[in-house]
Amino acid sequence: DDGWATTRFVVLGFGTAGYACADSLLQAGAEHVVVLDDRDNEALRDKAQILEVLGATITLGEGSTATLPPDVDIVVTSPGVPPSAPLLAQAAERGVPIWSEIELAWRLRDPANAAPWLCVTGTNGKTTTVQMLTAILTAAGHRAVAAGNIGLPLLEAVMDPEPYDVIAVELSSYQLHFTHSMSAHSAAVLNLAPDHIDWHGSMDAYAADKGKIFTNCQVACVYNVADPVTEHLVEEADVIEGCRAVGFTLGTPGLSMVGLVEDLLVDRAFVEQRQTSALELAKLEDVNPPAPHNVANALAAAALARAFGVPATAVRDGLRGFSPDKHRIAHVAEVAGVNYVDDSKATNPHAAQASLLAYEHVVWIAGGQAKGATFDELVIAAKDRLRAVVLLGQDKAVIAEALERHAPDVPRIVVESTDTGAMEIVVGEAAKVAQVGDTVLLAPGCASWDMFANYGARGDAFAEAVRVLAD
Ligand code: ADP
Repeated sequence: DDGWATTRFVVLGFGTAGYACADSLLQAGAEHVVVLDDRDNEALRDKAQILEVLGATITLGEGSTATLPPDVDIVVTSPGVPPSAPLLAQAAERGVPIWSEIELAWRLRDPANAAPWLCVTGTNGKTTTVQMLTAILTAAGHRAVAAGNIGLPLLEAVMDPEPYDVIAVELSSYQLHFTHSMSAHSAAVLNLAPDHIDWHGSMDAYAADKGKIFTNCQVACVYNVADPVTEHLVEEADVIEGCRAVGFTLGTPGLSMVGLVEDLLVDRAFVEQRQTSALELAKLEDVNPPAPHNVANALAAAALARAFGVPATAVRDGLRGFSPDKHRIAHVAEVAGVNYVDDSKATNPHAAQASLLAYEHVVWIAGGQAKGATFDELVIAAKDRLRAVVLLGQDKAVIAEALERHAPDVPRIVVESTDTGAMEIVVGEAAKVAQVGDTVLLAPGCASWDMFANYGARGDAFAEAVRVLAD
């Protein structure tokens, strides 16, 4: 297509996604590709050299605050850069289209030979659901891959010389904000709770961006029966004619839903019409771990796989063979009759609440950067399970105040230390108050950046401290 050669692109951000965007544009024949990034360091300069050889112009050290060159036709942006960033604001003002990596992948795929996209978004559970879905699709014999907001850029999956049968796509609200023409085979919104509100401007704007996943959806829009906002997003969506709404529920499913009947995951959406009973997909014990929110993830993954035509046995086999990524309700050890669980990936209150509700008696380890979130709802929902709370990190006072308001009798232990040994103190304090049969749960409900490189490092520090305790 000549269009790519003459169009003038600015790629904003030179991380993994930005690199994939610039590289793919050049491969597609684009001759005017300018890459900008706020950062400037050795590693970026090395990456820049490769693309410069291919014809891109890379400017490091100025990006989101740069002045948009006058002749730009399209800006391709990276997640994390808010729409209010000066460069994006100028583009919007001038009517220059702004694309996410997802939009670019949709436009660069070869429509004659393209794998359908099964797309997942939501505040929490995206990665787990996409990985479960990939396991199910693979168990059904498809060449499937997980891509998007999950490590592998979607562009790489789309441009892979050996084409996939189907792609399980994780989408963040950031990516959806700048995605316009995608048409998923089927799509799911898992849940919606306040997160990243700074970026989107308001909860309504955040929800609207999540809802864009359903635009032009072809076969099934999957929503969470327990979260009416997700159903509302389906009702509002402009879908392809014939596309169905399919709910998932931890209760007994109605028609056009997947859900639970006793200890079975069942399908009442993709069964023959004359078949009155529900179709068994899997047993609860096939879901690992069988925490309620994780069963919900499994049901959402099953709904998308069934929409794609996967047989029930493959849903079972895929789920059986699956175990979640590190730091997601990972069992670390049992010490003196107490279970230690690492859910460091619970980086917002909604996620932490889900994992707290999976245990009966919990010593809860919480704190870090709260990103403006409130903990009242969580404390009200979980207070009867709390043996004690050990607080650490920058915003521990926010959590302490919510506890004071709604659960003043739950003992609070505040750890002031922020140095490398802090987690050992935290785990030591938790061990002191835990009783036999309790769970000590690291589910901070906060980002980790105040004290750790990332949530993985925080979880590793926890596991290490538990090992020290066991010795
Ligand atoms: P995401 O990719 O959306 O961040 P993950 O699958 O990585 O989601 O899970 C992140 C954390 O969110 C988990 O560690 C768990 O605490 C929580 N979580 C997972 N699934 C759900 C769900 N369906 N509802 C609420 N919280 C969840």
